[in-house]
Amino acid sequence: MSIDQKVRKPLKELGVTAPEEISDLFAGVGDALESERQRLIARGADDEGERERLAKELRDRWLARKNGLISSIDECWLKAAPKELKPAVGRAFNELRKASAALEVDALVKAIPLKHAAKLQGKLSFAGEAGTAEHGGLDLTLPGYRRQHGSVHPVTQVMREIEDIFLGLGFSIESGPEIESVHYNFEALNIPESHPARDDWDTLYIDSQTVLRTHTSPVQIRAMEKHGAPLYIICPGKCYRHDNPDSTHATMFHQVEGLAVDTDISFADLKGTLDFFARKFFGEKIRTNFFPSFFPFTEPSGDLAISCVFCEGKGCRVCKESGWVEVMGCGMVHPEVLRHGGIDPERYSGWAFGLGVERFAMMKYDINDIQLFHQSDVRFLEQF
Ligand SMILES: [Zn+2]
Repeated sequence: MSIDQKVRKPLKELGVTAPEEISDLFAGVGDALESERQRLIARGADDEGERERLAKELRDRWLARKNGLISSIDECWLKAAPKELKPAVGRAFNELRKASAALEVDALVKAIPLKHAAKLQGKLSFAGEAGTAEHGGLDLTLPGYRRQHGSVHPVTQVMREIEDIFLGLGFSIESGPEIESVHYNFEALNIPESHPARDDWDTLYIDSQTVLRTHTSPVQIRAMEKHGAPLYIICPGKCYRHDNPDSTHATMFHQVEGLAVDTDISFADLKGTLDFFARKFFGEKIRTNFFPSFFPFTEPSGDLAISCVFCEGKGCRVCKESGWVEVMGCGMVHPEVLRHGGIDPERYSGWAFGLGVERFAMMKYDINDIQLFHQSDVRFLEQF
């Protein structure tokens, strides 16, 4: 007997006379309802119009007020039930009505997949048929979310540009720890505890023997110990100083230092290399000039100045009307420093330089505040 015939016969005719038979009877109806629903979902629909029509058909078959299957059950089973069966039929009927909410048009439309989407879903979903049913309402042809492209931070860009120039000259890149021992950060670089030059690096101490490195120079000592001479390296990396932040100072900044150690190395090699580097980085029109200076780890020491990039050497506010801007410190490596690195200063000599990457980026891009590099403001960063 089909479900359609069954629901139109009184309980007595179906042979149901005891309350315990009621739940079996309603379970059969519930199974029929669910299998019809699943069959429709498995079938899918070609387009939204067909989906709407199929959903309405199934809904009406079960839930129509007139002649719907649920209405018939209400009439023939519940209302006509003998007194002793009524409570059991009433409870079971309520359950069935709750379950039949899944046949409302809205719920069905959400559940029935469109066939072209179902095909895609079959490829994309690991969940198989159940997944297809669950995501049936999803339109996979809609455009996705656009992700913005990032770009390389200007400080990193400039650092890579500097690295590329020196790599082209045959230098290699060395790195070392940012948390450094006092020995490598100061003593090995000819800056003993009593030396007034230590005051220049307002240092951030972790304990009495450990500092956040104030320059990348400790890497030079480590590289000399590791590789010996001859040695041609650059050391890019972060440094830390106890500076109050302003437009030209930050507690963290980046340096690139260079070191060349070989036999017969002179100040002329240093000048030639840095002149070549300055022209590569700032442009061929740039002229360079060396001024005497002092650093504990080099002797003699100098500052490299370039002709002002803003006024081309004529004199302006940036170069304080001198036409020259100091861009880095340099000098011949102090024999004591070579000795600390395990290299014989009688046989080898060397030169070194150190520059601030942020400062180079500020000159290159005409940026007037170092703080801008570290504020992660997209309006600033997206210009690079
Ligand atoms: Zn100038």
